[in-house]
Amino acid sequence: MDQVTLKKYAELLVKTGVNIQKGQTLVISCPVEAAPFARLVVEAAYKAGARQVVMRWGDEQISRLTYLHAPEDLFDEFPEWRKEFYLTHAREGAAFMSIYASDPEAMKGVDPNRIMRSQIAANQAIKEYSDRLMANKNRWLVASVPTKAWAKKVFPNLTEDEAVANLWDAIIKATRADQDDPVKAWEEHSKQLHKRVEFLNNIRFKSLHFKNALGTDLVVELPEKHLWAGGSEKSADGISFNPNIPSEEVFTLPKKDGVNGVVYSSKPLNYNGNLIDEFFLTFKDGEIVDYQAKVGYDSLKSLIETDEGSRYLGEVALVQYDSPISRSNILFYNTLFDENASCHLAIGRAYPTSLIGGDEMTEEELALNGANYSINHVDFMFGTEDLDIVGKTYDGQTIQVFKDGNFVI
Ligand code: ZN
Ligand code: ZN
Repeated sequence: MDQVTLKKYAELLVKTGVNIQKGQTLVISCPVEAAPFARLVVEAAYKAGARQVVMRWGDEQISRLTYLHAPEDLFDEFPEWRKEFYLTHAREGAAFMSIYASDPEAMKGVDPNRIMRSQIAANQAIKEYSDRLMANKNRWLVASVPTKAWAKKVFPNLTEDEAVANLWDAIIKATRADQDDPVKAWEEHSKQLHKRVEFLNNIRFKSLHFKNALGTDLVVELPEKHLWAGGSEKSADGISFNPNIPSEEVFTLPKKDGVNGVVYSSKPLNYNGNLIDEFFLTFKDGEIVDYQAKVGYDSLKSLIETDEGSRYLGEVALVQYDSPISRSNILFYNTLFDENASCHLAIGRAYPTSLIGGDEMTEEELALNGANYSINHVDFMFGTEDLDIVGKTYDGQTIQVFKDGNFVI
């Protein structure tokens, strides 16, 4: 990819993504392989007024070696210095950017239990940090750049270099970084999503009924105080930002005990470097009571059995089958992209901001208002080109929301 476009993309992540303010700290998590691009982000951040940019480098191959060879007790620990790192920067109001570029098979053969335990240990140690991000108290962003292993998975018939070039093309298009002024293009895009959000918030749906030929037949109730969101959001200090680039969704939360029926996945899910594919989940009063997967059953099991809340849902998101990412017809094996090509649900925690006044609620109040809590929040895709959605409102009307995969309202 040419330098001009890469610089535009880096600037988009800094301005439209985390929206760095003068004097602010930016913390970037990034694979070592993506260092050349990270340097462009660092430069853009300082130009935008950042006080300091702090890197947290990662390498999946090293993580894999650790999971394979380290002694058992390591996975129940989280180092004190790392906890201090996250909490200190979160409390000082830093923005957090995560460059997510996971090889969908990086952890093949690793015991999913080890990964799950280290996530539980991490979450216990830095719960304050994740609570702050989930409630938009710190601005945050997830975005992607290609890595060789990931690109080869997306384009298996190309050489490594060609695959990386093609994946760059797809990412730059999907994020609108190919446009003359990507920041402006995102403002326009956000306006469109905000219109849809406003419309849905005015209707006040009590439930949504999803149906398609794959076998999905699922009724999702929404809490009385649910709020739809999509496009740019506002952090607690009133500054707008975009937590995901790209983003095509409008989303809210399901009522924790109000989900009934069955849902079939429509795309593979990369969960912690393992693929889960062709799976279904059966719900009764919100709880997953049965599930199967043709690929990755053990990973799905460890996801669902992580904690009490990972047997329930925390997000329901509507994305047109005709979204630009979906029209590209590329299977990204990366949830950030695939979830923006398809209606999806999240297993686990709900965003407090999906409830009216939710960012000021205690955990008990969130639960009383129907929000689920878990250390997980894992989106999976179930939208198809024949998906129908019928909504019922609190005042008893029935309204068709999706016909054949697309909005009809
Ligand atoms: Zn979503
Ligand atoms: Zn989500």
